[in-house]
Amino acid sequence: MKPKPRIAIVEDEEDIREILEYTLTREGFDVVSAADGASGLELIRRERPDLVLLDLMLPDVHGLEICRQLKADEQTDGIAIIMVSAKGEESDIVLGLGLGADDYIPKPFGAAELVARTRSVLRRADRALEADSGTDVVLRGALKVDPGSFKVHLDGEHVEFTATEFKILHLLASHPGRIFSRSQILADSRGELAASYDRSVDAHVRTIRKKMGEHRHMIETVRAIGYRFADPA
Ligand code: CA
Repeated sequence: MKPKPRIAIVEDEEDIREILEYTLTREGFDVVSAADGASGLELIRRERPDLVLLDLMLPDVHGLEICRQLKADEQTDGIAIIMVSAKGEESDIVLGLGLGADDYIPKPFGAAELVARTRSVLRRADRALEADSGTDVVLRGALKVDPGSFKVHLDGEHVEFTATEFKILHLLASHPGRIFSRSQILADSRGELAASYDRSVDAHVRTIRKKMGEHRHMIETVRAIGYRFADPA
């Protein structure tokens, strides 16, 4: 039998920490927790969790610094990270995604949302272990994206995309459920967009959605952060 996924919680607010512990333990996860950044890092290095729920505003170390340290260490860089953030921390979330965090949950959150996000990120981490060469055809329902031929098909019909639109769609569709900030999308499609700025990503996404017609909902807007491809599971 597969061992229970282990989740580490780093959160200084006691009530929130208890809610997180209670909810995830009840869902069958193996849960460990810490109330500040320094003991959180120590806990993560010792317990090697599959996923960390990381509060950003901690009394000693900023959550982003913890994120940076985990991703800089090959012993811990494979651990999935969900940032737990308060209102108004959108720019920190964008920075965290750039550092390699997988997702975020805004406070206040409901138990169902917490569990769904946690499971979704763990599923994606599993999928990422299976080889992803970047040259494979991506199939998502009616959508087929072929990086070999740079062709997109919807319901079997070829749809014309520019090189930049293709790269953006391929990036998003290759990682369903994963949030990409505008700057991550921009960095990925660099070359085509060298002289442009964040807002041009919005313009490209608008065009991509238009071309996707009735399947436009596959690309979701994440308010104040960026975009993600709908996670079917
Ligand atoms: Ca806090």
